[in-house]
Amino acid sequence: MNGPCERAAPVLNRCDTLPPGFLEARPHELADLLGGPTLIELPGECEAPLFVSILMHGNEDVGLGAIQRVLKAWRGRSLPRALMVLVGNVAAAAEGVRRQEFQPDYNRVWPGTLDHIGTAEAQMMAEVHERVIARGACAAIDLHNNTGRNPFYSVICERSPEVLALAGRFAGRAVLFRGVPGTQTASFAGRIPAMTAECGKPAASAHEEWAAQFVTGVLESRTLSPGEGEDDLELYRTLGVVRVREDVSLSFDGEAADLILAHDIDRLNFVATRPGQMLGRANHAMPLTMTDGAGRDVAGEFFVVEGGDLRLSRPVTPAMLTGDPRIVRQDCLGYLMERLEPA
Ligand SMILES: [Zn+2]
Repeated sequence: MNGPCERAAPVLNRCDTLPPGFLEARPHELADLLGGPTLIELPGECEAPLFVSILMHGNEDVGLGAIQRVLKAWRGRSLPRALMVLVGNVAAAAEGVRRQEFQPDYNRVWPGTLDHIGTAEAQMMAEVHERVIARGACAAIDLHNNTGRNPFYSVICERSPEVLALAGRFAGRAVLFRGVPGTQTASFAGRIPAMTAECGKPAASAHEEWAAQFVTGVLESRTLSPGEGEDDLELYRTLGVVRVREDVSLSFDGEAADLILAHDIDRLNFVATRPGQMLGRANHAMPLTMTDGAGRDVAGEFFVVEGGDLRLSRPVTPAMLTGDPRIVRQDCLGYLMERLEPA
């Protein structure tokens, strides 16, 4: 019988040369090419490696395109700095999905995870984590795409000068977020400078190029000490993660449902909204939950349903709002944030 319980546990592959065909592979071809999640460790002139993870979510291809560009640029030459690349959820990439239904989310299983302790995936990421720390990596970068429209931004878990400097190299906006245990970035907080690079929507060569330039810049820099740039960084703090209640039906296109949201709700991402901002129509007293950093549901402090209209009740800045109902159910509707003043 083949079922979710019978699936083979993923085992981490490791190699110290580029697997043949890797530089030309498409995301859906990696499962056959690599056989599973793979840690590739390449030498470079500076020994302290840069660690980059890609395809933690199988439908987010920016990391593969970026790393292929970087490595092609140095083909036949030694890298300026050693590079560790974790190619993550290749099984999900083969299907073009964030994760397979029976899999845990690969960006929720890193050390510190609460929900997936003891799983094969958590063991695998613990092994990678240990190796990255043991090699004295200079930084950890996790490359992602968004499903909704968002400007490029970093997600960071600590406000140290080194982390702000790293984030400032990537984009002018950064989100300070400690809310989800088990992310790659959270697992390295306090150990090495770490950030998630959110690189806009998938399947965009301009986004791959931006990410490639960023990785190249870090590889080429001798030190990652704070410099110019972070003063201009717009820094936000997440107030909570917003989800649609499981018992509430959802539609994005006006079809009858308990909650009907605008399909272009992602236009509000990184826009400072006013109280009263309309989000959709609801026939439920509070169709959303909003979980703050302490795990409390604070939806009632930020949203209101009046006369069937769902509105924001406080001035906030949304991020990562998505109009993809599958992502809403697998992950979340999005986040609310507030702007932080410079330290
Ligand atoms: Zn992602």
